Amino acid sequence: MRKIQMVDLGGQYQPIKEQINSSIAQILENSTFINGPEVHTFQKELEDYLGVKHVIPCANGTDALQIAMMGLGLQPGDEVITADFTFAATVEVIALLQLTPVLVDVEPDSFNIDIAAIERAITPRTKAIVPVHLFGQCADMDALLKLAEKHKLHIIEDNAQAIGADYIFPDGTKQKAGTIGHVGCTSFFPSKNLGAYGDGGAIFTNDDDLAHTIRGMVNHGMYERYHHDVVGVNSRLDSIQAAVLRAKLPKLDSYCDARRDAARKYTQAFENQEHIIVPKTVNRCEGICDTCDCHVFHQYTLRITNGRRDALAQHLGEKGIPCGIYYPIPLHKQKAYVDERYDEADFPVTNQLVQEVISLPMHTELDDEQIAYITDTVLQFVNH
Ligand SMILES: *Cc1c(COP(=O)(O)O)cnc(C)c1O
Repeated sequence: MRKIQMVDLGGQYQPIKEQINSSIAQILENSTFINGPEVHTFQKELEDYLGVKHVIPCANGTDALQIAMMGLGLQPGDEVITADFTFAATVEVIALLQLTPVLVDVEPDSFNIDIAAIERAITPRTKAIVPVHLFGQCADMDALLKLAEKHKLHIIEDNAQAIGADYIFPDGTKQKAGTIGHVGCTSFFPSKNLGAYGDGGAIFTNDDDLAHTIRGMVNHGMYERYHHDVVGVNSRLDSIQAAVLRAKLPKLDSYCDARRDAARKYTQAFENQEHIIVPKTVNRCEGICDTCDCHVFHQYTLRITNGRRDALAQHLGEKGIPCGIYYPIPLHKQKAYVDERYDEADFPVTNQLVQEVISLPMHTELDDEQIAYITDTVLQFVNH
């Protein structure tokens, strides 16, 4: 059996090796490292794929979130509501811009932001909500859009983990994750579902004015060369990363299929087990269906409900199976983000999830032998 990895970027590289190597070689020959044609072409190709008017490439997903908030004109003291159970980048940029982060609990089935908890947290100072499409499926965007309209709030989607996912509205219409709110942000970190070979990110919007504002902001606030109208940043996707992403974008749907395939096999093995809760696809489709892209499984995350999650993680390590605990500490308990306004009673779900979650190897190259070894090892341990 091939060695099991949490993410197998080497295996994914092999079938696209020649294309990637030759486009990188061409960039080296032309010295078009920054703002080369690859970046512009990738931008157009991603706009087509997502069905969004504007893609603005930038240096990483964290920058994308920061720049989106700058572009919307959020001001110090404005409150921004986001999920307690996510990667810290989301809350970090809120705090960095001197906005006030307001963390709220998540839902136990989807791991995504709890709409009722958002409603309780809204005040007259609330200006934006940042739903994180955690582990590969969208937050409840229909409810979020309605809430945003009612309270005049911006929706900034943190789509770092769900590029390629579809969201299905109650009337059956589909839209790509990250293109539904006022602005969406993604990361091309190598282990993300659409990963570069270094850092990268992008911002999506259908709003022409916001796109214009953001295009200047990523480039030192310049709208005309050497005229700096606003305080901006330097945040660029480089041409070599764009070339890698161009090779991978046409394969993104098949990458999503491969992840969903692995997820389906995991779920077949783990559902109906007493001490295991399998991840649920909640976006108006039942389970992990074959015909939709509602969940793109950035992570496949189980809940181990008998208190033996940490013991399982150690056991898997001993058996040569990597795993991850995403995330071990709620953001409201992180030193950088503690706030006396928070009440433990407001975070029952996150506080429980951090004890129970474990993410199994998930990537495009898992084979049946590896999946069977992983599922057998987990089941033997949990049922022992
Ligand atoms: C990866 C990630 C980010 C940050 O992306 P970088 O490219 O690493 O800066 C932000 N939010 C979430 C949910 C992520 O998973």
